[in-house]
Amino acid sequence: MVEQAGGVRPRVRFAPSPTGFLHVGSARAALFNWLYARQNGGTFILRIEDTDTERNREEWVDGIVSSLHWLEMDPDEGPYRQSERADRTAAAIDRLWAAGAVYACDCSREVIDARTKENATPGYDGNCRDRGLERGAGALRFRTPDEGSVVVHDLIRGDVVFQCSSIEDFVVVKSSGAPLFVLANVVDDIDMAISHVIRGEDLLPSTPKGLLLWEALEGPGAQLPVFAHLPLLVNAKRQKLSKRRDTVAVESYRDEGYLAAAMRNYLALLGWSDPDGREILSAEDLIARFRLEDVNNSPAFFDVEKLRWMNGEYIRALSVDDFIAASAPWTAPPLAPWPAERFDADVFRRMAPFVQERVTVLGEVPAMVDFLFLGEPVIDDAAWAGLVADEQALPILDGALDAYGDCEWSADALKEATQAVGDKVGRKLGKAQAPIRIAVTGRKVGPPLFESMEVLGREAVLGRVGAAADELRRRAG
Ligand code: GLU
Repeated sequence: MVEQAGGVRPRVRFAPSPTGFLHVGSARAALFNWLYARQNGGTFILRIEDTDTERNREEWVDGIVSSLHWLEMDPDEGPYRQSERADRTAAAIDRLWAAGAVYACDCSREVIDARTKENATPGYDGNCRDRGLERGAGALRFRTPDEGSVVVHDLIRGDVVFQCSSIEDFVVVKSSGAPLFVLANVVDDIDMAISHVIRGEDLLPSTPKGLLLWEALEGPGAQLPVFAHLPLLVNAKRQKLSKRRDTVAVESYRDEGYLAAAMRNYLALLGWSDPDGREILSAEDLIARFRLEDVNNSPAFFDVEKLRWMNGEYIRALSVDDFIAASAPWTAPPLAPWPAERFDADVFRRMAPFVQERVTVLGEVPAMVDFLFLGEPVIDDAAWAGLVADEQALPILDGALDAYGDCEWSADALKEATQAVGDKVGRKLGKAQAPIRIAVTGRKVGPPLFESMEVLGREAVLGRVGAAADELRRRAG
């Protein structure tokens, strides 16, 4: 293979087919392309491979574009659409036909299967190679050389050698006249002067076909791209990630409240690791430290728990203002369960530092603060059952009602008052506050209770503690 000419700036592309949400594996491929372009002053191109008209939908294109934008990886060029370049592909087919590189074949799948089922090597048997069928008589197949090999020079895997004898005369144009992916993909890569093809290893088996086409179109001395086939993503059971079993859509993670920077950081570690073992890496760090050559070729575990951990780290590293801004979609309907007019930005701001310490995804924010904006706390049956079973719950609530009536209204004073209530029933502070937390917030966990009560205000706290005590008396019968 001809190496990239020195000094040429790389041109790389992310070439998804718009048949679904943006898969995390695709996003990882986009990221590695983007990083390679950014660190080498290259161009990152988005090309939508929409030749499979039955499976493509326009909304998936929008989803891909908006997810890349969310990840702050907007393309330098594109989105181009393969479908808009049909004339280029048609011209390439003419050239292949004129050169005798492809021939027409009218065998149906069934006929081929019946004819070849006894053969040692599966696949098409070259039946129509020399029949001299007219163009238009059927599909067009590539005339694969009988001998020799195709070598894929891969930055990650080294040289991968495919014997031509194992590559059947593959279809490049269907009998309907529609080009196949392998052809359209190569025509576009040639036209767009792609220097590096960085993509998932699922595409490695079709790569020798692409290279045969590339040389047939551009001549044997053609400058071929450098390849980098990225390792597969697997789940905890070492199974290939699947739409049915695993959460694979980037959009789902965005909607759950992962930060784009954390997502990008985590995706970078799928197949690559920092030479010094660093895990938290900003975009600038990644651009400086990532090396395509350091990507390994064993399957990469997509560890959602680790992603969650990382997201928590990113959330805690935000300034409070940035945390509030990032939380904004979750503090208003429809993501927040309270009506918009109940939300008080100043109240949220006071609680924000505590919330920021405790959430791992922004989707957890509403549950942390809903007691402030919902009017009444929602105490479910399980929580009531817990209170009923706890014989000290009622004395604690009654004691709190008493103590909170006239104490100074500050977190410190509330803590002291609660401590005193606990002392009376022989409970440490942590356990003494449990029934009060349920009465005030409806939940067992949440931001620090005394700060929460300070923000909520005396009147609301007394109302809630009193109401819970009354209800508990009724339930305890
Ligand atoms: N469109 C192909 C796919 O989504 C990717 C092609 C490529 O990156 O070369 O599988």
